Amino acid sequence: MKEIFTKIEEASSLAKLEEIRISLLGKKGTLTASFSALRDLEEDQRKQKAKELNLLKLEIEKALATKKEALSFLELQAKLEQEKIDVSLFTPSSLRGSIHPVMLMMDRIVEYFTSMNFALEMGPLVEDDFHNFEALNLPKYHPARDMQDTFYFKDGKLLRTHTSPVQIRTMESQKPPIRMICPGSVFRCDYDLTHTPMFHQVEGLVVEEGNDSVSFANLKFILEDFLKYIFGEVKVRFRSSFFPFTEPSAEVDMSCIFCGGSGCRVCSHTGWLEVLGCGCVDNNVFKAVGYENVSGYAFGMGVERFAMLAYSVPDLRAFFESDLRILEQFK
Ligand SMILES: [Zn+2]
Repeated sequence: MKEIFTKIEEASSLAKLEEIRISLLGKKGTLTASFSALRDLEEDQRKQKAKELNLLKLEIEKALATKKEALSFLELQAKLEQEKIDVSLFTPSSLRGSIHPVMLMMDRIVEYFTSMNFALEMGPLVEDDFHNFEALNLPKYHPARDMQDTFYFKDGKLLRTHTSPVQIRTMESQKPPIRMICPGSVFRCDYDLTHTPMFHQVEGLVVEEGNDSVSFANLKFILEDFLKYIFGEVKVRFRSSFFPFTEPSAEVDMSCIFCGGSGCRVCSHTGWLEVLGCGCVDNNVFKAVGYENVSGYAFGMGVERFAMLAYSVPDLRAFFESDLRILEQFK
């Protein structure tokens, strides 16, 4: 009898254990046969033997159950060990994305100005006529409105044509001093080699109390420093220009980063690249927001133009065609 229990104890797997169970308790099992053999015994002998067999059967069943539990646990352990996943393993993925070059440039521009203590301001894309035009010294029927082809809605609202309305909204809600930039997308009804209906601008505004506390010299310093931060050592020149919202106004050129100023196709053989518009804030703009006795300057730039120059992308449309061969170079 002891052998049976030793055998059960030594079973090395659930399958082996099941074999043992069948050999004892199955239809043709030895224990089952012993029960059948009871028929041939005398009455009192049978009772005695039946009692013994039943006790033995109970013990065997108990031993089988205990062993089964132990083996199941071991097999589960082994299975877990085998299927273990090492989550710390590095797997190179071919689907890793990259930051879009326009956003990459936007981040660099924002990084410079925030490091110079400019606050970041945002505004709505759908604007009203007052914030997009009128408050910026562009009254209705002013011919300068033709400079911007506008997407209008039926109710007279429009998609902002520049980020300047954010300057107006900031001045409406805050008192000077103001030192802010507003990055974002703007919209114009225009599409050709150098224009897309949606593009990105970053504009800046500085306003301080006092009629002469902020001068053109301050503006000149910050823009020169900024262009050197983005493009390295470049020469910078200011050309007088006209914008309705600034007076005096200037366009800013930097020496061509491709030919160093000697003249090439990109700079149309002038040696200069036009990169920014700027000026001192027009008094009419201050009047529109109720500011008095203040002075300030403002500037604006197209992010796509900066990205094209900095990353040598020759065609503006490349930014909007989602061509992976171009985007993958910015990983
Ligand atoms: Zn050039």
